[in-house]
Amino acid sequence: MSFSDLGLAPELLRAIADQGYTDPTPVQAKAIPPILQGQDVMAAAQTGTGKTAGFTLPMLHRLKEFASTSVSPARHPVRALILTPTRELAAQVQDSVKTYGKYIALRSAVVYGGVHIDPQIAELRAGVEILVATPGRLLDHLGQKTVNLSQVQFLVLDEADRMLDMGFLPDIKRILSVLPAKRQSLLFSATYSDDIRGLAKQLLTNPVSVEVARRNSATETVTHLVYKVESTAKRDLLTHLIKSRDMRQVLVFCNTKIGANRLAYRLAKDGVGAAAIHSDRTQGERMQALAEFKEGKTKVLVATDIAARGLDIEQLPFVVNFDLPSSPEDYVHRIGRTGRAGMTGEAISLVSDEELDELAAIEKLLKIKLPVQEPGQFERERVSAPRAGSRRPEGRPGRPEPRREEAGRRDEHRRDEHRPASSRHAAASADPLFSRPYTPSSDATQVPAPPTTPGRGPKKQIAALFLPPAPAEKQDA
Ligand code: AMP
Repeated sequence: MSFSDLGLAPELLRAIADQGYTDPTPVQAKAIPPILQGQDVMAAAQTGTGKTAGFTLPMLHRLKEFASTSVSPARHPVRALILTPTRELAAQVQDSVKTYGKYIALRSAVVYGGVHIDPQIAELRAGVEILVATPGRLLDHLGQKTVNLSQVQFLVLDEADRMLDMGFLPDIKRILSVLPAKRQSLLFSATYSDDIRGLAKQLLTNPVSVEVARRNSATETVTHLVYKVESTAKRDLLTHLIKSRDMRQVLVFCNTKIGANRLAYRLAKDGVGAAAIHSDRTQGERMQALAEFKEGKTKVLVATDIAARGLDIEQLPFVVNFDLPSSPEDYVHRIGRTGRAGMTGEAISLVSDEELDELAAIEKLLKIKLPVQEPGQFERERVSAPRAGSRRPEGRPGRPEPRREEAGRRDEHRRDEHRPASSRHAAASADPLFSRPYTPSSDATQVPAPPTTPGRGPKKQIAALFLPPAPAEKQDA
């Protein structure tokens, strides 16, 4: 099947050709026809399957009749609303809307928290047909009456499972309550939990179900590999793997923002260029870290689940689980970053004894046993000759690893990820170094030289400081 068989408008076919796409992906081939016919759709598709074009193309086709070059805001009411869980995904979806809609005079805007609201208000006031939004910031706009959704006829919930994981259900319900009942609705989700089915029931009318991967199946082009390793040896093993295998682009997942910061900082000290991406970083910093990673300037991007959600990084060869996720579905999301578009990828998990339950849950979900890598030279060397004076990979010198307390804090941080920074309580931490919110330093463009006596430098530094300062931007949501 080719795109022209789908009956899309010539302006869209031209934009698709500009992108160099020849054939629709499976999710596009299945979802586009019913959406063009005006039907509701529930689609199980992960990031990397081409799902964004799967809803954006038919949406643009259906809205084409409203294209207008008029400058009057009244001619540009919001007609389509796309909700996404994260700022990065929202920005990427709007990029797709612009890319595929470049020959059609429809306006789009994106609104998310963590940046000033005023420019968004100005853009909304001028009128946009297609609005991409994260739920929290959209509610801010609704509260301030800076957006009117009374003419929305097309609604997309993208990565709905993640939105529910992040606790957005009440926000979504409030948003749904102000939308016209008569509309076309689409729900995209990588996994189908009972909660998702419940939401779909409320949201969709006689939906067409589109499934391109087996329920909760992991991408088949991905090779899984487990290294059983003490938690204190994980960083050394990761550094060893990256260097010995000459890995050039690695997305590493940590369960906490603190852990992500710390790991990126320490990898950088080990001579492996790394940056952290999580929700305590400003939008500018996150975008910059992602751009540098995509350009190959940074080898390793250390991310939390929420920050990484929806990242579109093409042909990512390696995903590393530095911590195993507490929910097995997150493993599926994480490895969805590799093995895309027929390329092969490797999902490496560093698993400590404390994480064997999580490993079992993942294997149960995937219905496969993940292959375990036998100890190689690295482990043998560590056993026979632990490095004298080696840094403790996870803790600070002389400090025992606070595993239990940290597990409690980990949950707290997971919950915190989507909350406005201003409303978060600082997690009780043994060491304020790791709980203090990140503040960019004005002269931090390089990895700071490690203090000669750890922890006794004049000014404590945390991981993210090696990135250049972000453009003037404040957390306002
Ligand atoms: P998504 O799953 O929407 O995040 O898309 C994943 C990647 O696939 C993006 O980089 C798209 O540009 C790309 N893509 C989308 N549709 C096609 C297509 N029909 N052929 C080739 N690449 C595509």
